[in-house]
This record gives sequence, C-alpha cells and structure tokens, in this order.
Amino acid sequence: MRCSAVFISDASVLFATTRTERLPKMTHQFPSLSPEQKQELSSIAQRIVAPGKGILAADESVGTMGKRLQKINVENTEENRRYFRDLLFSVDPSISESIGGVIFFHETLYQKSDKGVLFPQVIKDKGIVVGIKVDKGTAGLNGTDGETTTQGLDGLSERCAQYKKDGCDFAKWRCVLKISAGCPSALGIAENANVLARYASICQQNGLVPIVEPEILPDGDHDLQRCQYVTEKVLAAVYKALSDHHVYLEGTLLKPNMVTAGHSCPRKYTPEEVAMATVTALRRTVPASVPGICFLSGGQSEEEASLNLNAINQTPLHRPWKLSFSYGRALQASALAAWQGKAGNKQASQEAFFTRAKINGLASKGEYKPSGLTDQAATQSLYTASYVY
Ligand code: 13P
Repeated sequence: MRCSAVFISDASVLFATTRTERLPKMTHQFPSLSPEQKQELSSIAQRIVAPGKGILAADESVGTMGKRLQKINVENTEENRRYFRDLLFSVDPSISESIGGVIFFHETLYQKSDKGVLFPQVIKDKGIVVGIKVDKGTAGLNGTDGETTTQGLDGLSERCAQYKKDGCDFAKWRCVLKISAGCPSALGIAENANVLARYASICQQNGLVPIVEPEILPDGDHDLQRCQYVTEKVLAAVYKALSDHHVYLEGTLLKPNMVTAGHSCPRKYTPEEVAMATVTALRRTVPASVPGICFLSGGQSEEEASLNLNAINQTPLHRPWKLSFSYGRALQASALAAWQGKAGNKQASQEAFFTRAKINGLASKGEYKPSGLTDQAATQSLYTASYVY
C-alpha cells in the first residue's frame, strides 16, 4: 500500500502508513468551542492570575462553615455566614491588587451585603472575577481502601448556564485522593481524572473557566519524595484525560496541593525543599499552555502557605505558568480568630484578611519578605484529618 496523508481542520496531519492497520487510529476533534469562546475563556483565566493576584476560596459548604464558626463559638445560622462573607467582601477595594477571583458557595451567590447589594456585584465592582463551586461532594468508590470520586455531573450543564447568567465566570470542582500503602489506586486516579475532565468540558461549553482540583490529602506519614511521585502520577493522568476530552487548556486553571510530606512524617522539610519538589512535579506534568496554577493551602498554617508559595516562585527552574494561591483556610483563619462573631471586631478582622491577601500576592511574585513579627494565629496549623470541604 502507498503512503498517503490526510489533512484535518485543526492544522494537524495524520499520516497513514503501511503499518496503520496495526496502530490505533488518531481521533479527529470536531470543533467544540468557537474562537470567540476560546478567547473569552482564556481572557477570564488570565484576569484571575494577573501578576500578583490569586483566589480567595470562600466556597465552604454550610457544614464546613459550621465547623469554622464553632471554633469561635458562633452559631451556624444563615445570617452569621452572610455576615462573615460580607466582612470579607466589603474590605478595602485595593484588595483587587492581590485577589483576582473569589469562589462562592451556592447560598452566598444569592445573598446581599449590608448595603443591599448582591454579593457577586460587590465582588465585580472591585474588578474581581466571580466563581462558583459546582461539585456535590465525594462518594465512595466501592471495593477500594476508602477512596472516593466526586459527584455532580447530572444537570451540571444547566447549572453552569444559570451560574453564568447570575454573574459567574469560573467554576471549581474538587476531587480528593489520599496516600497510603495502596493508595491512590489505578482506579482512583483514572476515575478522578476522568470526572475532572468531564466537568471541565461542560464548564467551557457554558463560558465558565474550570478550576481543575485534584487534591492529594496531606494525611499520612509519607515523605516528600512519595508525595512528589504520587502528585506526578495524578497530574499526568489528569492532563491525559483533559486532552482526551478536548478541553481547551488555555481556558483552565489548575488547583493542586503543594508537594509536601505527610502531616505525620517525622522529617520536616524547608520551604526550598517543598518548592523544588513541587515545581519539579509540575514541570513534568502540566503543559505550558495552562495559564495558572493556584495552590490550595491544605491545612498548612497561613504563614507556612505564604512562605512555601514564595519559595516556589523563587526556584531556579523555568516556570511557564503563573504560580499563585487559591486559599481557603490560609486566607481566613486570622480573620475568623479576630472576628469572634462581634461587630466591634469587624475592622480588625478585615485588616487580618487584607494582610494575608497582600502577603500571598507578594509570595505569588516571590517578593514576600517576612518581617519576623508574624502574629500567633498565622502560624497555627490548620490541619484536619480527612478534610471535607
Ligand atoms: P484550603 O486552602 O483551606 O485547603 O481550601 C481550598 C479549597 O478550595 C479546597 O477545595
């Protein structure tokens, strides 16, 4: 048989050779996003991770928020949840120099500030992009050692369309993996990679930039190298699945764990060691077309999360993506501790939040210089075993 070449629309070329019959056929991508849709997605992603900016993850579910409020003896009522979010969102507008996006929980998206303005509008008025958590939590994978997948694909397209109308431009979906002797299993890795890719594809069809979050929990006594190995395997599977599902990478953001040793590992590692392991794992697995990587804080103290991010942005390795933050606990812990549910503490609480946001903005450029005067709340571990968000 003679060699022939087939041209396909996306400027790719498929070569048919005499051996073609024995090779799997390459797939053809039917156009799924218009140039305008791609342009919109990529410009949203770029805005979120503009220089010096990261994300405030304020999408704690009602239950998780309850646990946070319980620690400061505040009742978990709708009004108390609204009040604390209002406190964060009504901080000085210059917060937009360090926060590019805020992730909302469904309830918060439809609540109003003390001044009667819907929260998404409050955030947009500051020039910050509005995002929404769209997953519906984890469910067990039967026959595994307690591994999970994440639910929420049913009706996701319709929900995304509604959220887009209601002011959202990006979304978040959290998958959870754990490290133990036999985990994560091949099934755990494959299933979570696939569900993240399905979610990402559905988001993009509806004009939402998907934040792809395969969180590897810090539970366990494993060392830094084991976390790096597992992180590489998980991320490699995620990017293979995103490619298989024709996800437009320029219109996505990654939200991974930093590569750290397990919480009970007897050996402690420096921020430089964490940074080198993290950037090495990312360079081996995350395509340069991804505009930004926004780490979760995963139970690190506020200060630890800032120092590690700063070290990551100082590694002597080429880093083709923005390396920033999407912190929940590590942006809110001091603010919650300062608030204590008292209106009189509002300003102190806002100042605490503003300080952490500013520090992390600097760390996302590798420019954070600790003053040595870090207050106590910022150095306390925020770790919870088997963390549920
Ligand atoms: P933490 O920064 O508290 O780990 O949470 C971020 C988050 O959004 C988890 O999905």
